[in-house]
Amino acid sequence: MTELRLVTLATADHGLVTLEEPTWCVGHQHHDAESLRVDLVHAGPAVDCTHLGRELFSAELVQSPYAVSVTPLLGGRTPGVSVWPVGKTLDPAQLYGLAADIDAFADRLRGLADQLARILAEEALGEA
Ligand SMILES: [Zn+2]
Repeated sequence: MTELRLVTLATADHGLVTLEEPTWCVGHQHHDAESLRVDLVHAGPAVDCTHLGRELFSAELVQSPYAVSVTPLLGGRTPGVSVWPVGKTLDPAQLYGLAADIDAFADRLRGLADQLARILAEEALGEA
């Protein structure tokens, strides 16, 4: 049996707020006591894609238990995955769609690498 985890956070508008802490939340070490209750957010560990020291993509589980927004793709009370720099919070189907787009892009990158290798090999032959 999993013990219920609770976390108590200070807010500017509702004082101390006690929340049930999802098992995937990394905690609230950087919580700002001036936050509004509506802005409280649980976040999971970030999953990053970094190349040559530059962050290309980052994604993390998020949930805002007191969100009032029900705008699709902007987070809310239902857990989702926030994706940067897309700037959207995705559901599972949307996340699979993003992964498929990234797969297709990776294939096109490999195609460009193949093309570039042929061009460079031809140039090397021409110079020989
Ligand atoms: Zn949390």
